[in-house]
Amino acid sequence: MKDILRLLRYVRPYAGRLAAAVACSILISLVYLGLLGLIQPILDEVFPRAAIAPAATAGKIQPFDSIRRLLGAGGALAPLTSWAGRMRGESAGTLALIAAAIIVLFVLKGLFTYLASYLTRWTGLMAVRDLRADLYARIQRQSLAFFSDHPTGSLISRVVNDVGRLQKLVSGDLADIFRLGAVVLGQAAWLFYLNWRLASFCLILLPLVIYPVARFGSRLKATSRRSQEKMGDAASIMKEGITGTRVVQGFGMEDFEIGRFTKALDRIQAAEKRAARVVSLTAPVLELIGAVGAAALFTYAGQRIAAGKLSPGEFATFIAALWMIYASLKNLVKINNEVQQSMAAASRVFELMDLPNRIREMPGAADLPPFRERIEFRGVHFAYGQAPVLRGIDLIVPAGTVVALVGSSGAGKSTLVNLLARFYDVTSGAVLIDEADIRDVTLPSLRRQIGLVTQEVILFDDTVRNNIAYGRAGIPLEKVVAAARAAHAGAFIEALPRGYDTPLGEAGHRLSLGQRQRISIARAILKDSPILILDEATSSLDMESEAEVQIALQNLMTGRTVFVIAHRLSTVRRADVILVLDNGRIVERGTHPDLLARQGLYARLYALQFKDDGQEPEVSVL
Ligand code: ADP
Repeated sequence: MKDILRLLRYVRPYAGRLAAAVACSILISLVYLGLLGLIQPILDEVFPRAAIAPAATAGKIQPFDSIRRLLGAGGALAPLTSWAGRMRGESAGTLALIAAAIIVLFVLKGLFTYLASYLTRWTGLMAVRDLRADLYARIQRQSLAFFSDHPTGSLISRVVNDVGRLQKLVSGDLADIFRLGAVVLGQAAWLFYLNWRLASFCLILLPLVIYPVARFGSRLKATSRRSQEKMGDAASIMKEGITGTRVVQGFGMEDFEIGRFTKALDRIQAAEKRAARVVSLTAPVLELIGAVGAAALFTYAGQRIAAGKLSPGEFATFIAALWMIYASLKNLVKINNEVQQSMAAASRVFELMDLPNRIREMPGAADLPPFRERIEFRGVHFAYGQAPVLRGIDLIVPAGTVVALVGSSGAGKSTLVNLLARFYDVTSGAVLIDEADIRDVTLPSLRRQIGLVTQEVILFDDTVRNNIAYGRAGIPLEKVVAAARAAHAGAFIEALPRGYDTPLGEAGHRLSLGQRQRISIARAILKDSPILILDEATSSLDMESEAEVQIALQNLMTGRTVFVIAHRLSTVRRADVILVLDNGRIVERGTHPDLLARQGLYARLYALQFKDDGQEPEVSVL
C-alpha cells in the first residue's frame, strides 16, 4: 500500500490527464449502459409483443424511451423516424432509431476509447520516465561500497526490467482500477435499480469471488518477486560473460558460460511457471463460481417469470447488465493479478532507492577552498567490513610533493587513496585538506581538486574530444588538443580517420592499452586538479607503452601534489617520499636511497622484483 502511494506520487504531475482518461472511461461505461437500454425496446417492442408483465416494468426509466421522447420533442430525428415510419410502419421507425443509436453510441465509444487509452499510456510513459531517471540518479550518486554490494547486471536489470514492469501499472492498471471500480459500483447500483431482488440474490455470491482473488494475488506477488530476483541474477551473469569475453574465450569457457546463463534462465522460468499457473487458474475458478451463481439465478428468476412477476425483457436486461458487471469484475481481478506482480517490482525499486548513501554531505557543507598547503591523514583507521584494512595512518603531505605508496598486494594502498577522494569514509580518524576535514566539505568541490588515473581506463562511447573534455562541452578544441599533446596522445589521435571527432565506440577497441591510457591522462591534464592520484596507471602496460605513458605522466604531474601507487618499484624511485605499507600500517617511509640503506621491507621488495625483472627498466621519469 505504501508502495502504491509512492508510485502515485510519480503519477501526480500528470494527474489532470489521468483524470481526463478516467472520465473518458466512465463515459465509455455510460455508452454501454445506453446500449443496454436498447435491449428492452428490441425485445419488447420490435419483436411481437408477448408475455409482458406491465406491472414489473411500469414506472422504471427506460433510457431508450427517454431519449426517443427527448429527440422527438427536439425534432432532431423527426425526419428519420417519420420517413422510416412511413415506409414500414411504427415498429420500423423504432428500428431505424435503434440503428442510428447504435452507430452514434459506437462513434462515441470509439472516441472515448481512443482518448482514454492514449491519455493513460501517455501518463504511464511519463511517470516511468521520471521513476527511471530518479532511480538512476540515486544509483549514480551511491558510494563505491554500494557498487561492491550490487553487481552491475542486477542494477541494470532493476532500472530496465523492474521499472519496465511498473510501466503497465502506472500507464493502465491504476487508471483501470479507478475506472473499473467506479464502473462496477455504477453497474451494481443499476442492477439494484433494475431489480433489487435479483441483485441481492447475486450479492450472496460476492465473498465466494473475493477469497480466491485475494489468495491468487498474494501468491502472484511472491512468485513475481522471486522471478525478478532471478532476472537480476541472469543479467549479472550475462554482463560478466559479455564484458569478460576475452577471458571466457581465452579459457575456452564459452559452453560453461552459456550453461551458467541457461541455468539462470531456468530459474526465472521456474518462478514464472508458478505465476503462469496462478494466472491461468484465475479465469476458470471465477467462471465456475459464475456458473454456480447463474444456475441459481436462473432457477430463481424462472419462478418469478412463471409467477408473472418478471418480464422476459426485464430479465434479459438484468442478465445483460449482470454479464457486464461480471466482465468488469473479471477485468478487475485480472488487473489485480497484474498489480500484485508489479507491486513486487515496485518494492524492489523502492528498496534500492531507499538504501542510504554511505557518503553523505553534511547539511550546509561549504566548498573546499582551492588546495594550497597540505594534505593530512590523522590517525586514520578503516575497514570495509569487520576486518581492519588501515590501522592508524598518520601522514602529512605538503603541497607539491610526490608520494609513492608501495607494499605487497592487499596492503591497503588503493584503500588509502580512495579515502582521500572520499569514495569511502574513514572508520575513525580524519583526512584533512588544508585543515578542512573532507567530510565537512561538499563532494563536488573536493573531487574537482582531485585528478584520477587508474589502471583500468574508462573510455565512454563518444568522440575522442568528448572523452578528453568529459562533460565540459564548451571547452575549446585548442585546449583539448593541447592536453592531448601534453599526454603524448596528439600524434595517434590526429592519425585517426576523423581525428578528434572519431567516435571511440568504434575506435576504442582498436586503440592499444597505452593509447587508451594516454587519453585518460589527457583528460586529467585538462581537468587540471592540484591533487593527483595515479593508481597503478602503468601496471598493465608493456615496456614500450609504459615509456610513452611515463612521459605523459611526467607532464601531468608537474606542479601537482601526487599520490602514486605502482607495483614496479623502478617507477617510484624518484618520488619525494616513499611510504611502505604492510597490513594496513606505514612501516617505512623515506626516499629510495634511505629505504634501500635500511635493509627493511622496501629493500626486500626491491630485491625480489629486481630478480624477477632481470634488469632495471631504462625509462623511469619518477
Ligand atoms: P592494495 O591496493 O594495497 O593492493 P587494497 O587497498 O586494494 O590493497 O586492499 C586492501 C584490503 O582491503 C585487501 O585485503 C582487500 O581484500 C580489501 N578490500 C579492497 N577493496 C574492498 C572492498 N570493496 N570490499 C571489501 N574489501 C576490500
